[in-house]
Amino acid sequence: MAIIDKALDGKVALVTGGSRGIGRAICVALAQRGAKVIINYASNAAAAEATAAEVEKAGGAPVLAPFDVSDKEAVSSAIKSLGKEHGGLHILVNNAGIAINGLLMRFKADDYSRIMDVNVGGAFWCCQAASSLILRAKGDGRIINLSSVVGEMGNAGQTAYATTKAAIIGATKAMAREFAGRGVCVNAVAPGFIATDMTDEHMTDDARESMLAEIPLGRIAEPHEVADTVAFLAGPEAGYITGQVIRVNGGLLM
Ligand code: NAD
Repeated sequence: MAIIDKALDGKVALVTGGSRGIGRAICVALAQRGAKVIINYASNAAAAEATAAEVEKAGGAPVLAPFDVSDKEAVSSAIKSLGKEHGGLHILVNNAGIAINGLLMRFKADDYSRIMDVNVGGAFWCCQAASSLILRAKGDGRIINLSSVVGEMGNAGQTAYATTKAAIIGATKAMAREFAGRGVCVNAVAPGFIATDMTDEHMTDDARESMLAEIPLGRIAEPHEVADTVAFLAGPEAGYITGQVIRVNGGLLM
């Protein structure tokens, strides 16, 4: 099947952590394909407004939805009312995530709880809250979870982060099996090294250079390169892809 222009016309999509980085690019890519995009953010309203402006430029009519994905009750009530307000939900992209790095020997219990609550709990509770809406979308229903190359290959100093991103892969495959009977596809996208605030904030110049040396394509990717993959998985062309981990990593892991 050829790539269909405006393939997501009439579809409602919720993107968590849409205020910046990969999440912002996903919001724009989904809007370009015709989806109504709901932009979730935790606290940075100005950044979420900036995403909304880009979505409008792409021809979309964005909706802002502030809630913390790690707060089960907030997630549940927000998704319930969004579903009512917009006549359903077809696509959920669990993009919100944090990186807390540190060697295992010194990793703090509070940091462990926080990264698990946001990266694993956040996706888990969003999927649970959205499940009845997505199941109603049947063959148009899509869940796309952001994992990471680190969840498959590990990285020294990122044991906690890698744990969360590996958990996302297990959850994706289990959900794919639970929802397949209704035609809903659930996949993970595992990015490699993408130019965002997350990588800026957490990488020394030395670490960046040695990571670059390991990437066969020899460069860091732009957020839209991940977003385009997510937008493809969200559409009708990907209706026979489920339970997969799609790697967007420049060959870092083959
Ligand atoms: P980023 O830090 O630039 O953006 C993360 C987004 O998540 C932000 O908008 C942030 O506000 C939001 N967020 C964080 N905690 C939240 C919460 N509790 N509730 C709601 N929103 C919350 O990161 P990014 O680089 O754009 O990463 C996006 C996703 O891709 C993450 O899941 C990350 O783990 C994954 N990823 C990124 C890379 C990379 O190289 N940048 C590589 C692999 C995977």
